[in-house]
Amino acid sequence: MTKDEIRAQLRFYQDLGIKTLYRREPNPGPSAPATGPELIVLPLAPVHDNLAKISEDIGDCRRCRLHEGRNRIVFGSGNEQAKLVFVGEGPGADEDEQGLPFVGRAGQLLTQMIEGTARKEGIPLKREDVYICNVVKCRPPENRTPQPDEMEICGQFLYRQLQVIRPKAICALGSTATKAILGTKDGVTRLRGKWLQWHDIPVIVTYHPSYLLRPYNQNAKKEAWDDLKKVLHYVYD
Ligand code: URA
Repeated sequence: MTKDEIRAQLRFYQDLGIKTLYRREPNPGPSAPATGPELIVLPLAPVHDNLAKISEDIGDCRRCRLHEGRNRIVFGSGNEQAKLVFVGEGPGADEDEQGLPFVGRAGQLLTQMIEGTARKEGIPLKREDVYICNVVKCRPPENRTPQPDEMEICGQFLYRQLQVIRPKAICALGSTATKAILGTKDGVTRLRGKWLQWHDIPVIVTYHPSYLLRPYNQNAKKEAWDDLKKVLHYVYD
């Protein structure tokens, strides 16, 4: 690689919010010579990018350990020209089975939140009008939280999805999406309801629908509905 190429690569990492580069131990196979730790090098985003190209680049991804337990890669769904993008954490069992984001219980609640709030506010909006995706595209084992290296490796594709769609606003659902998009350690309770920013795109943080499904978090629902109202009016008024 030339110096300019390395500089461009590092600038791309910086845009992705990556501050640490991970080394993974190589798996050379029985007869290959040992070469020492290998740096994970993420490719640059192509100039004329689009969702089909991103999906093609993901391919039959084996870039991190999450591929080991997945059935389907869950790329994202909705309108490529959406004015609003929702970002969750990662697929659960139902999503892994169907290859689509937010189709299980949390997904049904998300659909209700989007369509129900829009209807009440007099905004004609259906789930298929927005775009929905996740930070990681493969289901973590036992639905555990994605690890930092998994988020960084898969985060390059989320970054490209957001760059291609360039929505009017982004809604980060829960703390993993918040961390991936804003690069902050601050929790959802502290950040929710405020206008934040990803590059030049406004971001609203709210509770993850799975959190709202737990009986002891019912009082957070009103706040989530308020957050949603705020972002829907901003985008669609
Ligand atoms: N939870 C998520 O974060 N994403 C999904 O797609 C489903 C549940």
